[in-house]
Amino acid sequence: MKITGTHFNYFQVCHRKLWLFANNIQMEHNSELVLEGKLIHETTYPQRPARYQELEIDGIKIDYFDTVEKVIHEIKKTEKLEHAHEWQLKYYIYVLKNNGIEGVTGILEYPKTRQRHEVFLSEIDEQAIEEMKDLITEIMESKKCPPLQKKSICKNCSYFDLCFSGEQEEPTS
Ligand code: SF4
Repeated sequence: MKITGTHFNYFQVCHRKLWLFANNIQMEHNSELVLEGKLIHETTYPQRPARYQELEIDGIKIDYFDTVEKVIHEIKKTEKLEHAHEWQLKYYIYVLKNNGIEGVTGILEYPKTRQRHEVFLSEIDEQAIEEMKDLITEIMESKKCPPLQKKSICKNCSYFDLCFSGEQEEPTS
């Protein structure tokens, strides 16, 4: 199975979420937060599609790639999971590099707060990504769903109902 940017993102967030998603248990369309995120994509930069290209390569799909500056623009709703966003973007840069597109950098954009963060891929990052890829594949191909780990992010996760139905305790905040 090809590792996508979403897989890479979910690996940072929650191994159980990664497994559920990779095993085609997809509930993202139920999540208001995801819908809101999509709306931000569609309405924040209406001029973007003309300026930047969409790029699909080696299992990943980049919405906004500036082919002149070689910059990937990744738009996110909130900075809460910035660590995961950063690794997702680094993974995109890594995949492009491995497909012969060198010198790419990234910009994480948070239109709601008007924040922008540059993202670069270092040699250490590349080694870390190699190791993460092995772990991601191991989780995705496992026969068993990783156990529930109550986290603050659970409340906003599209799998919340699935994970917490029958649970007595609420996730920690
Ligand atoms: S609800 Fe929590 S434990 Fe379940 S998949 Fe989402 S983040 Fe993971």
